[in-house]
Amino acid sequence: MTETTTPRRGLLIILSSPSGAGKSTLARRLMDWDESLSFSVSATTRAPRPGEEDGVHYHFISAPAFKQLVSENGMLEHAHVFGNFYGSPLAPVKDAIESGRDVLFDIDWQGAQQIRNSDLGKHTLSVFILPPSIAELKRRLVSRGQDTEETIGKRMLKSWDEISHWDGYDYVLVNTDLDATEAQLKTIVSAERMRRAQQPGLQAHVRKLQMEFEEGQE
Ligand code: ADP
Ligand code: 5GP
Repeated sequence: MTETTTPRRGLLIILSSPSGAGKSTLARRLMDWDESLSFSVSATTRAPRPGEEDGVHYHFISAPAFKQLVSENGMLEHAHVFGNFYGSPLAPVKDAIESGRDVLFDIDWQGAQQIRNSDLGKHTLSVFILPPSIAELKRRLVSRGQDTEETIGKRMLKSWDEISHWDGYDYVLVNTDLDATEAQLKTIVSAERMRRAQQPGLQAHVRKLQMEFEEGQE
């Protein structure tokens, strides 16, 4: 197989789902599968949950600091979700994709839409995760054991709003069996890395082929 010499461009991989469908679990599995993937650590104004670390799961910042970042164009996208602000800082994303590393986002449909419509839209792969049923979605939220009954109620109410945006995504997976969904996700990522827009070295490679071809004609 002939390889191009120029490194490939990084892909922006977006995972969205209603809360509890399994996107964080799938994101963790993707990160374990390929250590070169960068996770986009979002900034949020919500309080940390037990076990969440600042700078690892989120950058936990105040509302004024969040607004300041937005006003300085420091966010690739941002949205208001469950009464709090969430956003993806732009600088680490640019650094990663320019050096050929893919970036994984766990964000909602509003963020996915903003990234698709941004300058980086053509380098974006978006995947929506659906639960097998609403009853199972609730069961997963309860079994995760992270939220109060009130927060679970809020998340369930919001879930239809999130699900209703399923058709704006490139791929949609029904997460019934976790291992099967993980395998499907890896297949999608592997294929999308080969997209023409992700291989800036192709043009030079084809020019080289053309020269070789023309030399062969002489
Ligand atoms: P999200 O990030 O979408 O809110 P999580 O990844 O936290 O969801 O998953 C919610 C809960 O459901 C977790 O306890 C996780 O282990 C579990 N879970 C995820 N996918 C499956 C699946 N296919 N079958 C059963 N449980 C699952
Ligand atoms: P949680 O509070 O459960 O961590 O996240 C709540 C919701 O906010 C999830 O749907 C998650 O995907 C979304 N979210 C997390 N970070 C961001 C972000 O940076 N931007 C957007 N638009 N949504 C985010």
